[in-house]
Amino acid sequence: MQLYSTKNPSTRVSFKEAVFNSMPQDKGLYMPVTIPRLDDKFLNNLDQYTLPEIAFHVAQKLIGEDIPDHDLKAIIEDAINFLAPIVKLEENVFVLELWHGPSLAFKDFGARFMSRVMSYFLEKGEKQLDVLVATSGDTGGAVALGFLGVPNTRVTILYPKGKVSDIQEQQLTTNGQNIRAVEIDGTFDDCQALVKQAFTDKELKEKFRLTSANSINIARLIPQTFYYFSAYAQLLKRGISKVVFSVPSGNFGNIGAGLLAWKMGLPVEHFIAATNVNDTVPEFLKTGVYQPKPSVATLSNAMDVGDPSNWVRIADLFKGEMNVLKNLVTGYRYDDEETLEAIKFINDNYDYVACPHTAIAWQALRDWQQDQYKADTAGVFLSTAHPCKFPDVYPKSMAGKVDVPEQVRELAKKEKHSVALGKDFKGFKEYLLENE
Ligand SMILES: *Cc1c(COP(=O)(O)O)cnc(C)c1O
Repeated sequence: MQLYSTKNPSTRVSFKEAVFNSMPQDKGLYMPVTIPRLDDKFLNNLDQYTLPEIAFHVAQKLIGEDIPDHDLKAIIEDAINFLAPIVKLEENVFVLELWHGPSLAFKDFGARFMSRVMSYFLEKGEKQLDVLVATSGDTGGAVALGFLGVPNTRVTILYPKGKVSDIQEQQLTTNGQNIRAVEIDGTFDDCQALVKQAFTDKELKEKFRLTSANSINIARLIPQTFYYFSAYAQLLKRGISKVVFSVPSGNFGNIGAGLLAWKMGLPVEHFIAATNVNDTVPEFLKTGVYQPKPSVATLSNAMDVGDPSNWVRIADLFKGEMNVLKNLVTGYRYDDEETLEAIKFINDNYDYVACPHTAIAWQALRDWQQDQYKADTAGVFLSTAHPCKFPDVYPKSMAGKVDVPEQVRELAKKEKHSVALGKDFKGFKEYLLENE
């Protein structure tokens, strides 16, 4: 796969280079030069394949020239070793559960695939790979668990102080080994800005082999296409071939992957971009003006993003055809009160506990279906995290219903290790240089 920078479409880099650089020098994002279309035979018979088989087929189309079949298969089998089932809640309403991996959030798909691809490309005797990652909650845990113990790598996680849940913080700060956590006195956007600045800092770049594990890395985007194909396959098995996906969105990597899958030929009728009050994209879809804003803290903290970094990719996928994008994607936004109401409704009516992000996607699907109901079209909302990651969100009446997996109960017993820093770049840079 050849890639270019969205800021400089004539540039070309290899997949390996894009994975390690994460972001081009010009601060654009890497995009594939050609987006391959999957053959109709595969698309029409999706229901005959398992998730790893689908993943291999899709990945091979994209990066088959960069990683031989045998190795690619091994990477996928190791990375995607959990399920992504759809569960029916009512006629034409399905939830796609993406949190059956080790960190209990959908980011396991991207993080586990990327860490294994990096480790595959890392040659013996090469300089240690330093992965810098900003997290609004779930990325950090997924990346930490994805890289834990991977030789010749070190991960530095930046998270906003007091803005992640206890379980998320435990997942970030109790790993040890090659993982270290930095608690930033600021917002997620501040964390992200520090990481971005580190990549353009000459001294740091000379000293360290830096790479990013944020959703801007192309190796995180690719595996997120897999579950759209797999969800479609599961619907086909039920005799359904028309689908709309509702995606709870923050940095817009998840829905970006869905749109990439659509470009590769997955016949999705419509996408719904569901956000909390950080509604830069729904506003854009309504007004045509893209106006980034400072992020606001909400109950769905993994979506507290005021300037979604993957938006550039989506805009690039649809450059010159913004009307296509606007016909394909509808935006909805909800505040915390509406999020809580949705959580209660889902619990009362379906006896199902949704995390706050998931509840927003459900509400958006419901509102969309109310406007555009089509009996032959199934709605699938993406469930991005296990509800136990957000215990403080649920009303007392539901508290007993949120089951807590064993792996989470174990976390509470471990010791927290993190370094507290301010949001200024100077302090962060000093920390990196002093802790070589
Ligand atoms: C990261 C995250 C999101 C947002 O996904 P993006 O790809 O950043 O849009 C939604 N829900 C949960 C639980 C997350 O961790």
